[in-house]
Parts: sequence; C-alpha cells; structure tokens
Amino acid sequence: MKIIKLLLSLIIFISQAPFAQVPHLTGEIKISVLNGTIVGDLEYSNLPTLKNYSIWLNTGLNVRYFRDEADTFNYTPEKYYESEKSDEAFQYYFPDKDKKGKFLPSKFKINYVGKFPVINDTLRASNRNDWKGNIAFNGKTIRASEQTCWYPILYDVDNDVEINKVTYDLKIDCIDCESIYVNGSAPQKGKSVSATSNNPTALLMYAGIFDFTKNKETYFIDAKLNPEQEKVLNNWTEKIKGFYEGKLKIPYQNYVAYLSTTPISKKNAWLFVTYPTIAIIGHKYNLNYYFNPNENVLKDSSIIELLSHELGHYYFGTMFVPNAELRWFFLEGITEYLALQTIKEILGENYYKLQMSAHIKRVKDFNPKSLPTVKSNEINETYRYKYIPLLITALEKEIGKEKVWNWLATILKSDKSTKTDYDFLKTSLLKSGISDTTVKNFEEKYILSDKAKENVLRILNN
Ligand SMILES: [Zn+2]
Repeated sequence: MKIIKLLLSLIIFISQAPFAQVPHLTGEIKISVLNGTIVGDLEYSNLPTLKNYSIWLNTGLNVRYFRDEADTFNYTPEKYYESEKSDEAFQYYFPDKDKKGKFLPSKFKINYVGKFPVINDTLRASNRNDWKGNIAFNGKTIRASEQTCWYPILYDVDNDVEINKVTYDLKIDCIDCESIYVNGSAPQKGKSVSATSNNPTALLMYAGIFDFTKNKETYFIDAKLNPEQEKVLNNWTEKIKGFYEGKLKIPYQNYVAYLSTTPISKKNAWLFVTYPTIAIIGHKYNLNYYFNPNENVLKDSSIIELLSHELGHYYFGTMFVPNAELRWFFLEGITEYLALQTIKEILGENYYKLQMSAHIKRVKDFNPKSLPTVKSNEINETYRYKYIPLLITALEKEIGKEKVWNWLATILKSDKSTKTDYDFLKTSLLKSGISDTTVKNFEEKYILSDKAKENVLRILNN
C-alpha cells in the first residue's frame, strides 16, 4: 500500500511539475513619471520547457535586444500581433535553426525602452479610454498591471496559459518618485529601491508621488483615509477572508493592499485585482468614496459586497486561473456566487434576499445560451455576473451548501493546465463526490432543458 501511495504522489508531483516551475525576473527598471518613460534591463531565468510559446511585451515598448544568458549574442526574434490573445502586447518567439519550430532557452536577457503619454490634465483626455491593461501615467504616478505586459510574459500556446506570475529580484530607479510599490513586496519610500519576492506574483507596479500606510495585515497605498477608516476597512477585509478560508479550507497567503488612484480618462471608474492588490480607480469613485468625509463607517453595504467579490478573486482568478470556453463561468460567475454567500453570512439573510431579487430581475428578459455550446465571448455581463450565480444557487438548492463548497474546493485543487470547458464543469462536480445521477438530473433540468432558466428561477423562489 505504501509503495502505491508513494507512486501515486510521485505521479501527481510529475504531472504538476511543468507548472511548478516559476520564471524568475531580475534586473533593473528605470522610470520617469514626469516623462512617461520605462527602460527595462532584465534577465529572465528558470523558464519552463515549452515547445509552443510566445513572449508578450507591451506594444509601446521597443526591444533593444533579446540576448543569451552569457551576454555573447543576440537572438533574432519573430514578432507578431494577435489581438484576440492580448490587445496590449506584441508577441515574440525565437525560431529554431531550421525555422520550422520555436526554441526557448532556459534563460535570456532583454532590454527595452518605451515612452507613454503623461495625462495630467483631463481637459483633453478621452472620456473612457483607461483600463487594466493600460500603462497609465497621470502626472504623479505610473500604474502598470500585468495585463499591460510592462515586463515580458511567457505564454504557453498549447495550454492557453499566461505565465504572468514570477518570482523577482528587481531594482527600480525612478528619478521623480517618492514611493515605489511592486506587487507582492512591501511599498517603499525612495527613488531607488530593491523589490524582492519568492512568492510567484503577477507584477503590478505603482510608483510616483504618494503615501502609504499599514493597518495590521492590510496596506493602504495612495488611499488618503484616516487611521480609523483604515481600521474599519481592515476589519471587513479580515472578516471576508476568514469566511472564505473557513469554507474553502485554503488560507489567504499574503497581505491585502488597497491601492486607490485616478484614471487618465475623464470618466472611467472601476476596480481590478492583481492579488494581493485590490486597485480602485476613479476621480470620484476611489477609496475615499467608500466613506462620508470624517465618518468612520462604510457608506453602504454594497461596498462590502464589492469587496467580497474582489477578495473572492484570490481563489478564482489567482490560485485557479480559468481559460477556454467557460472562462467567465469560473472567473466571474463563481466569484459572484462567493460574494453572495459572503454577504448572506456577514450582512444577513435580508440583505442577501434583496441582492438575489436584484439578480433575478436582471435576467428577466435574458436568454442564456446553453453552457455546452456557448462560446466564451457569448457569456456577456448579464450571463457571467447575474445568471451563473443564480444557476449555482439552484445547484445549492438541489444538493446543499456544503456540497457546493466542496465542489468549489475541488476545482481549486485541480491541475493548473486544465481546460475549463463544459466537460471540466461536469467532471469537477463528479470528482467532488456528487453522484452521477444527481449531476445528470441537474444538467438536464437546469442546463439542457428548453425551460432551463424557468427551472432555475422556480427553484430559487421555493
Ligand atoms: Zn470579478
């Protein structure tokens, strides 16, 4: 028995091994927030063995060279653009000798420069042209998330996986900065800092003229809250994290940082997560908006729901990164279900019911395309944020809450190269211990039936 167990654990280890190899990024980044410039002089090492890959780098960054690790010759990369994969980046690869395949060394050096518009006056700014993938210089700071590809990101073409989490040891020089923050390590004061992390992290960089504080386990970056308000936000954060940890039995492994900043457009206002950072972007709707001036309670409960959703992305979005046709089911649908469960627990049944009715109202005239045939881009906002949470709640009514949590935990433990398509949805349900008949019945009644939506709404009203 022992030998079998040993063999089994070995097989599991081997099957996960290629994805356990995390790229390591070292070198120097030079920035000027007033000039809008970025210069990267980096070395990428510990790269996994991939036959079919590309390296993504922001379209505004000009490559001086890709070079071998011993610094003796330049690679001659092929370059192309595939907007369905990334709007923001050019894709590069090194052709092998006969130019038929691709070759990826285990290490390479890269040097690049870029200059971006500094938009410090919204007068001539666009109405809505800021997003997570934008390298945003607002005159005081630079905001660059992993989606911008401000650092080279390896992409596994065959498995449709962006390997954007890296360990790093970086020197950041910014001649006109007061503070520098690289996701995964503590924010620091100074124009020249070293930032290091041994935890694989997607790199959000924020640097410029701003202050930061820490309240217990939570950082507040450019947040402009008073200490009492920070305490309130930290308490809610801990409560939500505690709820998820208890239900999914997987601990949060890092601090949470709230980053509050302005967009470089007139009207954009949104949140995004690059774990452990939750970024709140808006001229008016930034972190300050969550409190009335000089009041130390959150303005309203919808903020707690919002935070629950964003903190839920630690699990679905960070630990487990969905892809394929049901990407939005697993990324946003499940996360919204998590948020609804959280508010039920910490804000009570009545508030939960109100939110459920709001979701039900939103799907009134909505015709969900059946999950086995739906294409990723057909899962629109109503589908992902409203209908899928309701569908999972129907499942909850059928099998009970604990089994749903168990299913969610099972998904989180699944192989990272898994394609999250309809097949995966079914196998994950079965793998979590739900019987074949129960899964079949659920599928027929709530997914395949012509009256699927009616059936979902009917059981929710019971
Ligand atoms: Zn979300």
